[in-house]
Amino acid sequence: MQTVQHSEQTLKTALTSKNPTLVSQYEKLDAGERRLLNKAFKPDNDLFGPITLHSESDWIISHPEAPQDFEEFFSDPSGKAPSPEKRSIYIQCIGSLGNTRIIRHILRFLKKKKPRDAFCIVGITMIDLYPRDSWNFVFGQASLTDGVGIFSFARYGSDFYSSHYEGKVKELQRVSSSDYSIFDNYYVPEVTSILLLHSCKTLTHEIGHIFGLRHCQWLACLMQGSYHLEEADWCPLNLCPICLCKLQCAVGFNIIDRYQALVRWIDDESANSPGLSRGHSWEDHVNLPKSVEAFKEWKEWIIRCLAVVQK
Ligand SMILES: [Zn+2]
Ligand SMILES: [Zn+2]
Repeated sequence: MQTVQHSEQTLKTALTSKNPTLVSQYEKLDAGERRLLNKAFKPDNDLFGPITLHSESDWIISHPEAPQDFEEFFSDPSGKAPSPEKRSIYIQCIGSLGNTRIIRHILRFLKKKKPRDAFCIVGITMIDLYPRDSWNFVFGQASLTDGVGIFSFARYGSDFYSSHYEGKVKELQRVSSSDYSIFDNYYVPEVTSILLLHSCKTLTHEIGHIFGLRHCQWLACLMQGSYHLEEADWCPLNLCPICLCKLQCAVGFNIIDRYQALVRWIDDESANSPGLSRGHSWEDHVNLPKSVEAFKEWKEWIIRCLAVVQK
């Protein structure tokens, strides 16, 4: 199996660059954070591995893109970061949509529905957005300028390829631009931990794009591009240090706090997030069990990172 191996110096320069502002910004990170980032660049470290190539159809080979280092992210004029007034990420379930051509209508609906304090709003659905085999399958579509996106997790469902999968689109529906019924009656299959893991990967990868992160070509990373489902499966759920610092720059967080919050989320068996906004009735939320078996390996990985940061 081939890997994309960058030298320690290349990775370090991709993060800190030679830009004096960024070098001093890096030096302001606390000692533990820097210890983790430095460890990540060592070729023999056991936390952040190189990108593994599986075949010629892998994204990185079939879709050559210019790599985005931290400096390019930092100085990108189209880059988006949340502001104190617009800092929430909204996730909207999408139900009975008509056919694939409606994707752009959904994006328009979502844009209209976008609350004032939203940094972005993303629609999620278990309906397959690409029902014809001849269509090049993608997980969804986003408009980065509008901060809206729609993503389907249908193909992660364990029974998607069975003939009785209920999330398949059966007939074309014409809906008016003021008809919000597409948001109702969403199909919820059995939520297995694998489905939850895949959905979290897709959604966090796509929201990463809305924050201005482009596909990662540095280390194995959540932000690697993927061309087929297996490839998405090979990507880890975590961000490599370079992408982690891009997100940190956009959102502003302490790496220890973030890792601890992720462990708390895995440990909290209930699906009800304490951060749900008030003003919604209980019935507005679907009370599903949260199955986190598939996240256990990732949790152990986070704990190993925390051990480095907190040494
Ligand atoms: Zn992507
Ligand atoms: Zn990365």
